[in-house]
Amino acid sequence: PITTLGVDVGGTKIAYGVLRGETLLTKRSVPTPREGWHSVLDAIARVVEELRAEFPDEAAVGIGVPGPLNHDNTEVKFAPNIYGFQNVPLVAYLSEKLGQKVVLENDAKAAALAEDTLGAAREASSSVYITISTGIGSGIVLNGKVWRGFNGVAGEIGHIVALPGGPVAGSNVAGALEAVASGTAMARDATFAFGTPMTTAEVFDLAQLGDTKAEKIVQGALRYIGMAIADVQKFLDPEMFVLGGGVSEVGPYLLESVQRYADEYVSGFAQVQIRKALLGTDAGVIGAALAARS
Ligand code: BGC
Repeated sequence: PITTLGVDVGGTKIAYGVLRGETLLTKRSVPTPREGWHSVLDAIARVVEELRAEFPDEAAVGIGVPGPLNHDNTEVKFAPNIYGFQNVPLVAYLSEKLGQKVVLENDAKAAALAEDTLGAAREASSSVYITISTGIGSGIVLNGKVWRGFNGVAGEIGHIVALPGGPVAGSNVAGALEAVASGTAMARDATFAFGTPMTTAEVFDLAQLGDTKAEKIVQGALRYIGMAIADVQKFLDPEMFVLGGGVSEVGPYLLESVQRYADEYVSGFAQVQIRKALLGTDAGVIGAALAARS
Protein backbone atom coordinates (compact mmCIF):
# COMPACT_ATOMS: atom_id res chain seq x y z
CA PRO A 1 0.00 0.00 0.00
CA ILE A 2 1.04 3.59 -0.66
CA THR A 3 2.54 5.60 2.20
CA THR A 4 2.07 9.36 2.40
CA LEU A 5 2.65 11.98 5.08
CA GLY A 6 -0.11 14.28 6.32
CA VAL A 7 0.33 17.59 8.10
CA ASP A 8 -2.65 19.47 9.55
CA VAL A 9 -1.83 23.06 10.44
CA GLY A 10 -4.07 24.57 13.11
CA GLY A 11 -4.28 27.84 14.98
CA THR A 12 -2.58 26.33 18.03
CA LYS A 13 -0.88 23.14 16.89
CA ILE A 14 0.55 21.40 13.86
CA ALA A 15 -0.56 17.76 13.84
CA TYR A 16 1.27 15.31 11.59
CA GLY A 17 1.32 11.64 10.79
CA VAL A 18 1.82 8.81 8.34
CA LEU A 19 -0.92 7.06 6.37
CA ARG A 20 -0.21 3.66 4.88
CA GLY A 21 -3.18 2.27 2.96
CA GLU A 22 -6.08 3.01 5.31
CA THR A 23 -4.03 3.01 8.51
CA LEU A 24 -2.71 6.02 10.37
CA LEU A 25 0.66 4.73 11.60
CA THR A 26 1.62 7.54 13.91
CA LYS A 27 0.25 10.91 14.96
CA ARG A 28 2.16 13.67 16.72
CA SER A 29 2.01 17.40 17.16
CA VAL A 30 4.06 20.52 17.83
CA PRO A 31 2.82 24.03 18.73
CA THR A 32 2.17 26.40 15.81
CA PRO A 33 4.88 29.11 15.82
CA ARG A 34 3.68 32.70 16.00
CA GLU A 35 6.53 34.53 14.26
CA GLY A 36 5.02 34.90 10.80
CA TRP A 37 4.50 32.47 7.95
CA HIS A 38 8.16 31.58 7.42
CA SER A 39 8.31 30.26 10.97
CA VAL A 40 5.22 28.09 10.34
CA LEU A 41 6.57 26.67 7.06
CA ASP A 42 9.94 25.96 8.66
CA ALA A 43 8.21 24.08 11.47
CA ILE A 44 6.30 22.05 8.85
CA ALA A 45 9.57 21.24 7.08
CA ARG A 46 11.08 20.04 10.37
CA VAL A 47 8.21 17.64 11.16
CA VAL A 48 8.27 16.30 7.59
CA GLU A 49 12.03 15.66 7.87
CA GLU A 50 11.42 13.85 11.16
CA LEU A 51 8.86 11.51 9.57
CA ARG A 52 10.89 11.01 6.40
CA ALA A 53 13.78 9.67 8.46
CA GLU A 54 11.49 7.03 9.99
CA PHE A 55 9.39 6.23 6.90
CA PRO A 56 11.74 6.33 3.91
CA ASP A 57 9.10 4.68 1.70
CA GLU A 58 6.83 7.76 1.79
CA ALA A 59 5.74 8.95 -1.66
CA ALA A 60 4.43 12.47 -1.06
CA VAL A 61 3.47 15.04 1.56
CA GLY A 62 0.01 16.58 1.95
CA ILE A 63 -0.51 19.75 3.97
CA GLY A 64 -3.85 21.03 5.22
CA VAL A 65 -4.01 24.73 6.06
CA PRO A 66 -6.91 26.62 7.71
CA GLY A 67 -7.66 29.21 5.07
CA PRO A 68 -8.74 29.74 1.47
CA LEU A 69 -6.21 28.79 -1.24
CA ASN A 70 -5.51 30.30 -4.64
CA HIS A 71 -7.08 28.82 -7.79
CA ASP A 72 -4.45 26.11 -8.41
CA ASN A 73 -3.87 25.07 -4.76
CA THR A 74 -0.29 26.31 -4.54
CA GLU A 75 -0.70 29.35 -2.28
CA VAL A 76 -2.68 30.19 0.83
CA LYS A 77 -4.58 33.46 0.39
CA PHE A 78 -4.78 33.95 4.12
CA ALA A 79 -5.44 31.95 7.27
CA PRO A 80 -7.86 33.98 9.42
CA ASN A 81 -6.67 32.37 12.64
CA ILE A 82 -2.89 32.19 12.17
CA TYR A 83 -0.91 35.33 12.80
CA GLY A 84 0.88 36.72 9.73
CA PHE A 85 -0.32 34.02 7.36
CA GLN A 86 -1.10 35.92 4.17
CA ASN A 87 -0.29 35.24 0.48
CA VAL A 88 1.89 32.30 1.41
CA PRO A 89 3.61 30.48 -1.51
CA LEU A 90 3.51 27.22 0.41
CA VAL A 91 4.01 24.67 -2.38
CA ALA A 92 6.94 26.53 -3.98
CA TYR A 93 8.67 27.16 -0.64
CA LEU A 94 8.27 23.67 0.79
CA SER A 95 8.84 21.60 -2.35
CA GLU A 96 12.10 23.52 -2.82
CA LYS A 97 13.11 23.13 0.81
CA LEU A 98 12.17 19.45 1.01
CA GLY A 99 13.05 18.48 -2.54
CA GLN A 100 9.88 16.44 -3.00
CA LYS A 101 6.25 16.56 -4.06
CA VAL A 102 4.09 18.69 -1.76
CA VAL A 103 0.32 18.88 -2.10
CA LEU A 104 -1.60 21.73 -0.47
CA GLU A 105 -5.22 21.49 0.64
CA ASN A 106 -7.57 23.51 2.82
CA ASP A 107 -7.82 21.83 6.27
CA ALA A 108 -11.59 21.36 6.18
CA LYS A 109 -11.57 20.08 2.60
CA ALA A 110 -8.86 17.58 3.60
CA ALA A 111 -10.87 16.39 6.60
CA ALA A 112 -14.00 16.20 4.43
CA LEU A 113 -12.14 13.94 2.01
CA ALA A 114 -11.00 11.73 4.90
CA GLU A 115 -14.49 11.36 6.37
CA ASP A 116 -15.98 10.73 2.93
CA THR A 117 -13.33 8.15 1.98
CA LEU A 118 -12.68 6.35 5.27
CA GLY A 119 -15.01 7.80 7.88
CA ALA A 120 -18.61 8.59 8.78
CA ALA A 121 -19.68 9.39 5.20
CA ARG A 122 -18.00 6.38 3.59
CA GLU A 123 -21.31 5.07 2.26
CA ALA A 124 -22.68 8.47 1.22
CA SER A 125 -22.56 9.70 -2.38
CA SER A 126 -22.35 13.31 -1.21
CA SER A 127 -21.32 14.79 2.10
CA VAL A 128 -20.55 18.08 3.78
CA TYR A 129 -18.05 18.01 6.62
CA ILE A 130 -18.12 20.91 9.07
CA THR A 131 -15.34 21.57 11.52
CA ILE A 132 -16.00 23.63 14.64
CA SER A 133 -12.78 24.63 16.35
CA THR A 134 -10.79 27.87 16.54
CA GLY A 135 -12.62 28.80 13.32
CA ILE A 136 -15.41 27.12 11.39
CA GLY A 137 -14.83 25.58 7.98
CA SER A 138 -16.35 22.96 5.74
CA GLY A 139 -15.64 20.73 2.81
CA ILE A 140 -18.07 19.51 0.17
CA VAL A 141 -17.46 16.07 -1.37
CA LEU A 142 -19.58 15.10 -4.37
CA ASN A 143 -19.21 11.55 -5.74
CA GLY A 144 -15.85 11.18 -4.01
CA LYS A 145 -14.42 14.47 -5.28
CA VAL A 146 -13.88 17.65 -3.30
CA TRP A 147 -15.87 20.51 -4.79
CA ARG A 148 -13.67 23.62 -4.82
CA GLY A 149 -15.86 26.15 -6.57
CA PHE A 150 -14.80 28.67 -9.20
CA ASN A 151 -12.42 30.63 -6.93
CA GLY A 152 -11.53 27.72 -4.68
CA VAL A 153 -13.51 29.04 -1.73
CA ALA A 154 -16.43 26.59 -1.86
CA GLY A 155 -17.22 25.50 1.68
CA GLU A 156 -15.99 28.64 3.46
CA ILE A 157 -19.07 28.37 5.67
CA GLY A 158 -17.36 30.10 8.61
CA HIS A 159 -17.60 33.40 6.78
CA ILE A 160 -21.23 33.36 5.72
CA VAL A 161 -23.21 36.04 7.56
CA ALA A 162 -25.11 34.52 10.46
CA LEU A 163 -25.86 37.69 12.45
CA PRO A 164 -25.89 40.90 10.37
CA GLY A 165 -23.88 43.59 12.16
CA GLY A 166 -22.57 41.06 14.68
CA PRO A 167 -19.03 40.61 16.04
CA VAL A 168 -15.99 40.53 13.76
CA ALA A 169 -13.41 37.70 13.89
CA GLY A 170 -10.50 36.74 11.62
CA SER A 171 -12.14 37.48 8.27
CA ASN A 172 -13.57 40.98 8.83
CA VAL A 173 -17.05 39.72 7.97
CA ALA A 174 -19.29 41.21 10.67
CA GLY A 175 -21.47 38.53 12.23
CA ALA A 176 -19.76 35.71 10.34
CA LEU A 177 -20.71 32.21 11.49
CA GLU A 178 -17.26 31.65 13.02
CA ALA A 179 -17.47 34.97 14.85
CA VAL A 180 -20.66 33.85 16.62
CA ALA A 181 -20.41 30.06 16.84
CA SER A 182 -16.78 28.82 16.86
CA GLY A 183 -15.04 27.50 19.94
CA THR A 184 -13.27 30.85 20.13
CA ALA A 185 -16.58 32.75 20.01
CA MET A 186 -18.12 30.65 22.79
CA ALA A 187 -15.06 31.08 25.02
CA ARG A 188 -15.09 34.84 24.34
CA ASP A 189 -18.80 35.17 25.21
CA ALA A 190 -18.41 33.04 28.34
CA THR A 191 -15.39 35.03 29.48
CA PHE A 192 -17.45 38.19 29.15
CA ALA A 193 -20.58 36.75 30.79
CA PHE A 194 -18.76 35.19 33.77
CA GLY A 195 -16.20 37.95 34.12
CA THR A 196 -13.34 35.43 34.30
CA PRO A 197 -11.30 33.63 31.62
CA MET A 198 -13.23 30.56 30.39
CA THR A 199 -12.41 27.84 27.88
CA THR A 200 -14.87 26.30 25.41
CA ALA A 201 -14.72 22.99 27.33
CA GLU A 202 -15.61 24.75 30.59
CA VAL A 203 -18.61 26.54 29.14
CA PHE A 204 -19.86 23.27 27.61
CA ASP A 205 -19.48 21.47 30.94
CA LEU A 206 -21.47 24.17 32.74
CA ALA A 207 -24.13 24.20 30.02
CA GLN A 208 -24.59 20.45 30.34
CA LEU A 209 -24.98 20.83 34.10
CA GLY A 210 -27.83 23.24 33.41
CA ASP A 211 -26.14 26.56 34.21
CA THR A 212 -28.44 29.06 32.49
CA LYS A 213 -25.77 31.60 31.51
CA ALA A 214 -23.61 28.91 29.92
CA GLU A 215 -26.59 27.23 28.25
CA LYS A 216 -27.60 30.48 26.65
CA ILE A 217 -24.15 30.91 25.12
CA VAL A 218 -23.75 27.32 23.91
CA GLN A 219 -27.30 26.94 22.62
CA GLY A 220 -27.05 30.31 20.90
CA ALA A 221 -23.94 29.15 19.04
CA LEU A 222 -25.37 25.73 18.19
CA ARG A 223 -28.52 27.36 16.86
CA TYR A 224 -26.43 29.30 14.35
CA ILE A 225 -24.73 26.09 13.26
CA GLY A 226 -28.03 24.24 12.92
CA MET A 227 -29.38 27.16 10.90
CA ALA A 228 -26.39 27.09 8.54
CA ILE A 229 -26.77 23.32 8.10
CA ALA A 230 -30.47 23.72 7.25
CA ASP A 231 -29.57 26.39 4.69
CA VAL A 232 -26.96 24.12 3.10
CA GLN A 233 -29.45 21.25 3.03
CA LYS A 234 -31.94 23.38 1.13
CA PHE A 235 -29.31 24.87 -1.15
CA LEU A 236 -27.03 21.91 -1.96
CA ASP A 237 -29.05 18.96 -0.60
CA PRO A 238 -26.16 16.66 0.38
CA GLU A 239 -26.86 13.14 1.61
CA MET A 240 -25.06 13.65 4.90
CA PHE A 241 -23.37 16.16 7.20
CA VAL A 242 -20.39 15.20 9.35
CA LEU A 243 -19.45 17.31 12.37
CA GLY A 244 -15.81 17.40 13.39
CA GLY A 245 -13.18 19.64 14.93
CA GLY A 246 -12.18 20.06 18.55
CA VAL A 247 -15.55 21.36 19.70
CA SER A 248 -17.43 18.36 18.26
CA GLU A 249 -15.55 16.14 20.74
CA VAL A 250 -17.98 17.24 23.48
CA GLY A 251 -20.32 14.40 22.59
CA PRO A 252 -24.05 13.75 22.15
CA TYR A 253 -25.14 17.05 23.67
CA LEU A 254 -23.67 19.00 20.77
CA LEU A 255 -24.93 16.67 18.06
CA GLU A 256 -28.45 16.46 19.47
CA SER A 257 -28.73 20.24 19.81
CA VAL A 258 -27.46 20.94 16.31
CA GLN A 259 -29.79 18.27 14.88
CA ARG A 260 -32.76 19.84 16.68
CA TYR A 261 -32.03 23.30 15.26
CA ALA A 262 -31.33 21.95 11.78
CA ASP A 263 -34.65 20.07 11.82
CA GLU A 264 -36.42 23.22 12.93
CA TYR A 265 -34.89 25.48 10.26
CA VAL A 266 -35.01 23.05 7.36
CA SER A 267 -38.78 23.55 7.60
CA GLY A 268 -39.82 20.19 6.22
CA PHE A 269 -37.91 20.43 2.92
CA ALA A 270 -35.80 17.37 3.64
CA GLN A 271 -34.51 15.07 6.37
CA VAL A 272 -31.20 16.35 7.70
CA GLN A 273 -28.74 13.56 8.45
CA ILE A 274 -25.95 14.68 10.77
CA ARG A 275 -23.21 12.37 12.06
CA LYS A 276 -20.24 12.83 14.31
CA ALA A 277 -16.86 12.55 12.61
CA LEU A 278 -15.65 8.97 12.85
CA LEU A 279 -11.97 9.81 12.50
CA GLY A 280 -12.28 12.45 15.22
CA THR A 281 -9.41 14.88 15.32
CA ASP A 282 -7.33 12.57 13.06
CA ALA A 283 -9.44 13.55 10.04
CA GLY A 284 -7.21 16.53 9.17
CA VAL A 285 -3.97 14.52 9.11
CA ILE A 286 -5.54 11.55 7.29
CA GLY A 287 -7.16 13.90 4.75
CA ALA A 288 -3.92 15.73 4.07
CA ALA A 289 -2.17 12.39 3.53
CA LEU A 290 -5.00 11.28 1.20
CA ALA A 291 -4.75 14.54 -0.75
CA ALA A 292 -1.03 13.81 -1.23
CA ARG A 293 -1.98 10.73 -3.29
CA SER A 294 -3.63 12.88 -5.93
C1 BGC B 1 -10.98 29.31 7.40
C2 BGC B 1 -11.26 27.99 6.70
C3 BGC B 1 -10.93 26.85 7.64
C4 BGC B 1 -11.66 27.01 8.95
C5 BGC B 1 -11.33 25.91 9.94
C6 BGC B 1 -11.72 29.35 8.72
O1 BGC B 1 -11.43 30.54 9.37
O2 BGC B 1 -11.38 30.39 6.57
O3 BGC B 1 -10.52 27.90 5.51
O4 BGC B 1 -11.27 25.63 7.02
O5 BGC B 1 -11.37 28.26 9.53
O6 BGC B 1 -10.00 25.87 10.28
